[in-house]
Amino acid sequence: MTRPGLVVLFFGLFGTLSGQDLTITQSPGYPYADGQAELVASLMKSFDYEEEEPIFTDTLEAWEQWHTVQNFEFGKNRGHLPMIADLNSLHPYFRDKVARLIEACREKGIELAVVEAYRTKAKQNEYRSMGKKYTRSVGGLSKHQYGLAVDVVPIVDSVAQWHNSTLWRKVGLAGEKLGMRWGGRWRYLYDPGHFEWTGGLTSYHLTQGAAPRIPQPDAYPCLEEELTVLRTFWEQWEADQAAAKDVTHSSKAMK
Ligand SMILES: [Zn+2]
Repeated sequence: MTRPGLVVLFFGLFGTLSGQDLTITQSPGYPYADGQAELVASLMKSFDYEEEEPIFTDTLEAWEQWHTVQNFEFGKNRGHLPMIADLNSLHPYFRDKVARLIEACREKGIELAVVEAYRTKAKQNEYRSMGKKYTRSVGGLSKHQYGLAVDVVPIVDSVAQWHNSTLWRKVGLAGEKLGMRWGGRWRYLYDPGHFEWTGGLTSYHLTQGAAPRIPQPDAYPCLEEELTVLRTFWEQWEADQAAAKDVTHSSKAMK
């Protein structure tokens, strides 16, 4: 309810209770009649009109707040470096598609967990070093490195359903309906949890710094600014995980 609305309501109540004839038939205008101003002031005071706190997500440290997932959290070996599983790490347009996928699946009674969203080159190379069943792409060549891919898994009774083909098909079709490419269609490295969207760009285009053109630019008026912030966050993560990987490697070497 708007403030004038509240004032009208409470004028009405107090008018009746106190027997004063305030006869407010429309929004109370200024100036008030004698005594009304004080009444209004006391009424306004009695409410806690807290200003809504603006939420700033583009602070310099926001990247550190991104939700991450540790190895084996979803029952699979996904390497030493933590996975960034925060939808904020994704390209804004793709992020909205993923949010809609999660919502669409929820409506069907399927709970999806985000396993990995943005992925650093360091993390990509770690998968690569873990073998061909993890990925065929080296760092920089996966859509994950551009915030344009996500890995999800359906959860039933708190358990990740990696091998439930019925569930995967439903999830995959829901994602394709939203215009995403689904890894469940791939023959080599069948990857049903993987969804991506590149606006028609290839990995090569992406490595050359091309950004996908989004279909509804008016809906994303601050896209360029958001992407600039996002890229700085990605760089922070890249530096962080590259350093963590060096530590892992040197500790391995010492053993
Ligand atoms: Zn993936």
